[in-house]
Amino acid sequence: MTSEVSNLFYMARQPRPFLDRAEGIYMYDQSGKRYIDGSSGAMVSNIGHSNPNVLAAMKAQMDKSTFGYRLHFRTEASEFLATKAASMMPEGLDRVFFVSGGSEAVESAIKLARQYAITQGQASRWKVISRFPSYHGCTLGALALTGYDPLARPFDPMMRDMPKIAAPTCYLDRDNLSDEARGLKYADLLREEIIAQGPESVLAFIMEPIGGASTGALVAPDSYYARIREICDEFGILLIYDEVMTGVGRTGAFIAADHWGIVPDIVAMSKGFAAGYAPLGAVVAKASMVEALLDAGGFLHGYTYAGNPLACSAGLAVLQEVERLGLVSNAANMGDILKGRLTDLMERYPFIGDVRGKGLLLAFELVSDRETMTPLPKELNAYLTLVELAYERGLIIYSRRTRGGVEGDHFLVCPPLIITPEQIEEIMAILIDSLDAFAR
Ligand code: PMP
Repeated sequence: MTSEVSNLFYMARQPRPFLDRAEGIYMYDQSGKRYIDGSSGAMVSNIGHSNPNVLAAMKAQMDKSTFGYRLHFRTEASEFLATKAASMMPEGLDRVFFVSGGSEAVESAIKLARQYAITQGQASRWKVISRFPSYHGCTLGALALTGYDPLARPFDPMMRDMPKIAAPTCYLDRDNLSDEARGLKYADLLREEIIAQGPESVLAFIMEPIGGASTGALVAPDSYYARIREICDEFGILLIYDEVMTGVGRTGAFIAADHWGIVPDIVAMSKGFAAGYAPLGAVVAKASMVEALLDAGGFLHGYTYAGNPLACSAGLAVLQEVERLGLVSNAANMGDILKGRLTDLMERYPFIGDVRGKGLLLAFELVSDRETMTPLPKELNAYLTLVELAYERGLIIYSRRTRGGVEGDHFLVCPPLIITPEQIEEIMAILIDSLDAFAR
């Protein structure tokens, strides 16, 4: 297919070739050109493309049924997937509600939190504090939590903007604090905000455990995570982890919360959950919360496609493959190698200001001065230019220009979790070639 005119419309008018087929970490356009899927789409294709076991599971489901409305039938696919997902989550997080994507997962988490608070006689609690910058989705509820002005501001009167605290952009700080003290400093912003808002009005705090699209793989100091949990407990506020991007092994733990032994009250998942094989997401919550809600009359929320058996058959097969192939530990091991190789680039390119992330959620940021972390001039459009140079050379990476307070260009290098050391070298070769071209 070669038509220049399209009836589809998206955000940008970037001319892109037609995708033909994809296998493992590679994608091919209709001319036969090969691309390395260096950011797993948008951190989605965690187990790689065309996994035969997932395709077989989906085909088997397709032969039986592709849809059964959740109020008319239970399906084995959704029951088995819920059981499997719960078994991989921290203890206590064992009630699962399916949705079709990340924004829906966040939306559902907020509504679950609110309805639970009502069952507890706490209807005064409705504010969900989030962070700036952050990304939680594009539906109006999720957008109200999203700390990214270009996407949110045009819709101001149509949604209720929620209170935000600064995300821990510690790498920009030029103080003498220890990592631990800095983590506590940023976490205590939540305490201050809760008090400023009036604790009895605050329902929940939502955070991406490791920043994704908004901040480029931003990890907080360890002290941050425990302190945030403590503060939420102190004020009886629900802690929601948005693990849409970080979940299902991406960071080298099944969910990122596992790195710090944190048990959130609610977790939102999508992306790697069905890894691009189907539109699927989930909200996972504590049984005590869900039981209270069901006793009080049920969850007043639901999407037609929730628990879609075809999507759930994909999700179940994906989780089985994650386990069978040991992808959580592969993400940790390959992540260490890739992060080391990206860090090596800082010697060669003075304009790489920072390399960060955990597991295979990794990013680098370009600057004009590494000491002061001054960003490159906006007019340079580095976040687009470098991506195009890599794309031409057959490497797809994901980029954004934004960061806390100051603008900057960051690039997410997040290949599928099945990647091998040899394939990491393939990525590095194209990346170096692209950075050389960028430097010229
Ligand atoms: N939360 C996070 C942390 C995300 O990264 C995203 C997508 N980038 C979303 C929510 C929204 O997911 P979706 O695009 O599937 O609605």
